[in-house]
Amino acid sequence: MRAETTTVPARLPESLRTGLFIDGKWQSATSTFDDHDPSSGQLLTRVGAADATDVDRAVRAARTAFNDSWGSVSGAERGALLYRLADLIERDAAILAELESLDIGKPIGQPTALDLPNTIATFRHFAGWADKIHGDSIPTAGYMGRPTHSYTIREPIGVVAAIIPWNTPLMIAGWKLAPALAAGNTLVVKPAEDAPLSILYLGRLIEEAGFPPGVVNIVPGLGDVAGAALVRHRDVDKVSFTGSPRVGQDIQRTAAETFKRVTLELGGKSPQIVLADADVDAAVQGIAMGLFFNQGEVCAAGTRILVHRSLYDRVVAALGEAARSQIPGAPFDLATTIGPLVNRRQQETVLAYIEKGKAEGARLVAGGGRVNRAGFFVEPTVFADVSNDSTIAREEIFGPVGAVMPFDDVDEAIRMANDTEYGLAATIWTRDVTLAHTLARKVRAGAVWVNGWAAIDPALPWGGMKTSGIGRELGWSGILANTEEKSVTVVL
Ligand code: ADP
Repeated sequence: MRAETTTVPARLPESLRTGLFIDGKWQSATSTFDDHDPSSGQLLTRVGAADATDVDRAVRAARTAFNDSWGSVSGAERGALLYRLADLIERDAAILAELESLDIGKPIGQPTALDLPNTIATFRHFAGWADKIHGDSIPTAGYMGRPTHSYTIREPIGVVAAIIPWNTPLMIAGWKLAPALAAGNTLVVKPAEDAPLSILYLGRLIEEAGFPPGVVNIVPGLGDVAGAALVRHRDVDKVSFTGSPRVGQDIQRTAAETFKRVTLELGGKSPQIVLADADVDAAVQGIAMGLFFNQGEVCAAGTRILVHRSLYDRVVAALGEAARSQIPGAPFDLATTIGPLVNRRQQETVLAYIEKGKAEGARLVAGGGRVNRAGFFVEPTVFADVSNDSTIAREEIFGPVGAVMPFDDVDEAIRMANDTEYGLAATIWTRDVTLAHTLARKVRAGAVWVNGWAAIDPALPWGGMKTSGIGRELGWSGILANTEEKSVTVVL
């Protein structure tokens, strides 16, 4: 037997396991990777790194569970298990929120107020679907002069690989696990290297809830080792991925070899459009949240701020003020409003974008450098007079950096909003109900919010257009994305 080579500092819960969860058992890996605390740069713990052999064992366990135990569990029983899991997440919400803060560096109030309630709501939402997934009875024209009876069935796809990003790991794991399980699939989950802890803890709760062994397997590890092995594996039927467009493209290419289904959510460069009649105070507050929440490490961050020229100077000044009033600090200090970025590489990437913004001629209104303290902090940064063609307006920065630009009329606003490779989300600030709905139709984005950034809900489909990805998660779309449709015709 290989020893479980992990060190668990006192701050981590005793019950947290840091190995691999395969076929209902916690196992060690032959090697480990280091998981760091982004607010100090110190080692938090070492986590088992699955290799291709481990991934193969996890996929086999998921296949066996799919064919045997899980296949005979009714929708109502699957729903009951999902409800039980939601209750356990709720029971341990404080622990899970702390793990998210510790691992990613986000201020503790944020996972407490958003990630945990959303994750719990997601499991409950899909628990409710589990016994309501049905096909249709369809009138048909008959067969060789005989009448026919035709209907459709929605069946689970099989073994689903869920590849999770580090920015909101537990919530996004919930978005993938809950619909897949409700629909009767089994899973192999690959957490991100930078933030595996909440998903490992979730593994303990999945065990406690009583899911049969092999229904959910968790294989932490490196993206190009464990992640790539999952995507290549011939017995994985679907890959659900959230992450960068570059990796998403690789995944789609590799998945094509075995005709795997894919759902890809690949981030964005989402516009926030402030129309001339907007409630400016509410808009500025919402825009600041869309820029600085979770350190700006959010796929739906509203980073391109398009403001009607009549409000432009006022909004630029107010956003500069909002940036300067953020309080960078330790995630467990209740005064903190913005934590460190997840790692040094991310900090350097964001700082390089800021330098590029300066070099390309944008006007720096606030921030613009690192914060002078330990950890991977970057100042909340606002640029004005940004050209929509410049690098900071085109590329996803994944840090607390906003680009503000003026427009003169609604047509120009829509043109600018859509002049991007991405299409994940858009926010419109207006009191004019006709304009709100007109622009909502015209903007090319998977989610449109009017007068409130990131009004997400597990009942609503989630996913992007263009480079922001393929397919939808959540809501009924989440069930469709986790089922195959079969037609049955009986010649009477
Ligand atoms: P980021 O650049 O923000 O870290 P990534 O797209 O690289 O985002 O990572 C998102 C998730 O994809 C992580 O779990 C990571 O380990 C995984 N990943 C990275 N590379 C690959 C790959 N080649 N195949 C499969 N998964 C990968």
